[in-house]
Amino acid sequence: MTDELIFLGTAGGRMSVAKQLRASGGFWAVLGGTRIHVDPGPGALVHCHSRALRLDPTSLDAIVLTHKHLDHSGDVNAMIEAMTEGGTKRRGLVLAPREAYEDDPVILRYVREYAAATGVLTEGGVHQVGAVRIETPLRLKHSAETYGLRLVGPRLSVSMIACTGYFPELEAAFTGDVLLLNVVFYPRRSEAHLCLEDCERLIAAIRPRLAILTHFGMTMVRAKPWELADRVSQATGIRTVAARDHQRLDLSAAAC
Ligand SMILES: [Zn+2]
Ligand SMILES: [Zn+2]
Repeated sequence: MTDELIFLGTAGGRMSVAKQLRASGGFWAVLGGTRIHVDPGPGALVHCHSRALRLDPTSLDAIVLTHKHLDHSGDVNAMIEAMTEGGTKRRGLVLAPREAYEDDPVILRYVREYAAATGVLTEGGVHQVGAVRIETPLRLKHSAETYGLRLVGPRLSVSMIACTGYFPELEAAFTGDVLLLNVVFYPRRSEAHLCLEDCERLIAAIRPRLAILTHFGMTMVRAKPWELADRVSQATGIRTVAARDHQRLDLSAAAC
């Protein structure tokens, strides 16, 4: 049984997603045989069924939104319907911040009934799904209610710092074997997203076995993320890679 991350898409931010400079379907974390789709942005269902991936949505155990923004949630209803065989089989867990369920909800009321259970993410919250403990240690600094994730599997843990500005508490909250960072901006542009320099600082402080950059905005895509990741590896001494669309990343080397 392989622990892996599968990237349906690696785009982040409005322009990169609107132009589909990269795909925007989020990623699957497969840990100890449990399958979790995080942030199914626009196109997630199409990329699931793509020839390159051929993923089966009915094999999912959970769908998790870090926050309600469209680049993270565009296909959440399509994915819930696919996970539940068109709503005919009540199965799977859906987790999202309260804001995603309330006024102007991104998870439609009739679709959320299809899941076996829905849950609300809160700061300090813990949810168990199959072999994975999903922790949300910290609310992030972003323009919507947003949580970073720690996915703790039987062999390794994956921390994900979703969209946020930098603040020092991130460093203690998102320890783990693998660290995933949403890096929208190459040069610093706003307080709502990490830039590359913030990511380098976080990787150097957290010191995971493997760091992965994803959720690229226009400035990151244009600057060749794989070259920037090499630079971060050299500067920090931590192996850092840039995720690619349709990439399956075997995590077994990060497990021991
Ligand atoms: Zn985003
Ligand atoms: Zn956002």
